[in-house]
Formats: sequence, C-alpha cells, structure tokens
Amino acid sequence: MLLAAAVLLTLGAIAFTLLVRNRDLPQPEAKTGYEHLEERKARIYEGLRDLQFEFRVGKLSDGDYQRTKLTLQTELVGVMAQLDAAKGAAPQPAAKPPSILPATVSATVCPHCNAKFPTPLKFCGECGKAMTA
Ligand SMILES: [Zn+2]
Repeated sequence: MLLAAAVLLTLGAIAFTLLVRNRDLPQPEAKTGYEHLEERKARIYEGLRDLQFEFRVGKLSDGDYQRTKLTLQTELVGVMAQLDAAKGAAPQPAAKPPSILPATVSATVCPHCNAKFPTPLKFCGECGKAMTA
C-alpha cells in the first residue's frame, strides 16, 4: 500500500515535470535575431541545469532524463549553429580607410648641410638645395 502510494507519487511528479518541461522548452520560432538566440541558449542551459538537478534528487527516471537531455542538447546545437551564423553575418567593424595623406616632399633637416628647421621645408634655407635626398 505504501509502495503503491510512493509509485503513484513518483509517477505524478514525473508527469508534472514533463508537462512543465514541455511548456518550458523553447519553441522553434521564425525570429533569428541575435539576442533572441542568446536568450534561447540561456533558457536551454537553464533547462539542462534544472533537468540535472531533478534527476539527481530522483524526480526523473534515467530514461526520461536522457530523453529530455538529448532534446535540449539537440536544441542547443541548433541554436549554437544559428548563433555562429548570426555572428558571421554581423557587420564587421569597418576597416580603416587607407591613408590618403599626400607623400610629403619636405623635411626639417637638410640632408646636404644638416641645417635644422622648425617646420618642414621643400628647399633648405641654408644651402638652397632640395630638402629631400
Ligand atoms: Zn642645406
């Protein structure tokens, strides 16, 4: 009698858990937004954690545990793949535009007489030669 009650209680707990679990399972949706995927991933991780806990405290049979775990893991793999795809499709930071500074033809030190000037010059103020060698 006591055993029957215990079995009934266990079955009830399992049925309840499975019902709740099914409702908790993230449903596949058309939305593929990045944040939406992260949210789904978090929910699956949470589900796996709960599942492990319930299995450890004996609320789930090994079969139920394995089955639900597999469902969640399959879901997770799918979400991860979509996340990777979303990441790959995300716009990359724009590459720096190539420097368009004109090549400078002036210098501050004369290569001919070594005279120094505070500002770049095209021709040396000392010897009058071109400042570029
Ligand atoms: Zn010079």
